[in-house]
Amino acid sequence: MLILLTNDDGIHSAGLQALADELQSIGRVAIAAPDRERSAIGHALTLHSPLRAEEIMPDRWAISGTPTDAVSLGIQGLLKEKPDLVVSGINKGGNMGDDLTYSGTVAAAMEATLMGVPAMAVSYTGKNFHYDDFANSAKVAVKLVEVIVEHGLPADTFINVNVPEASPRGIRVTRQGKRIYDDAVIQNQDPRGRTYYWIGAGKLDFQHLDGTDFHAVHNGYVSVTPLHLDLTNYNAIDRLRQWNMEEEVEDS
Ligand code: MN
Repeated sequence: MLILLTNDDGIHSAGLQALADELQSIGRVAIAAPDRERSAIGHALTLHSPLRAEEIMPDRWAISGTPTDAVSLGIQGLLKEKPDLVVSGINKGGNMGDDLTYSGTVAAAMEATLMGVPAMAVSYTGKNFHYDDFANSAKVAVKLVEVIVEHGLPADTFINVNVPEASPRGIRVTRQGKRIYDDAVIQNQDPRGRTYYWIGAGKLDFQHLDGTDFHAVHNGYVSVTPLHLDLTNYNAIDRLRQWNMEEEVEDS
């Protein structure tokens, strides 16, 4: 089995190294990851400038682009064969609820899914990110890779995994939760008296909703959320139809 790893924390991240070391027990591991931290870059794709892929070790490429670029190059150029699986992570910090829309970690798994390769994003929700801090998350990743290989993923679906800080009490299949972005933009003065703004520096909270990713992790469980490439809100289709905007243009 050939497993392609990537992340958005950069190729030198301890989380990526811990994941690679653990997954080596079940397959050949290749890495294509950004050459520096590219967190919160979402699904950005570099279209208007060249990309470099430096092979810093055999099967290990540092990409001068985004996580999405790395997956794209890994699958379509660098590896001589299509990988059986893409794993993105282990991210430094959780990727749950509304945060998913910003996440480079999740976007990398999304990109693999778009290319027809089964994928999983893994994030560690703790606060310290040395190599040993990722040990539980790496073990969970191996277990879930085995589950994916055994069952296969549903069409256009990948899984988003979040691991609690303490040793997990078990695994919960969850839905995406809801973030509370309170005071998410900080306004202050710099030493020269000019106003600056800092996004995402405020205190973050989440709604305590049963069955969500936040709720599972908060209660000490590994959260496994199936995510779908189709962003359509099917429940809203009927409601929008009632707005009567679909009428045909009359021939003149
Ligand atoms: Mn990150």
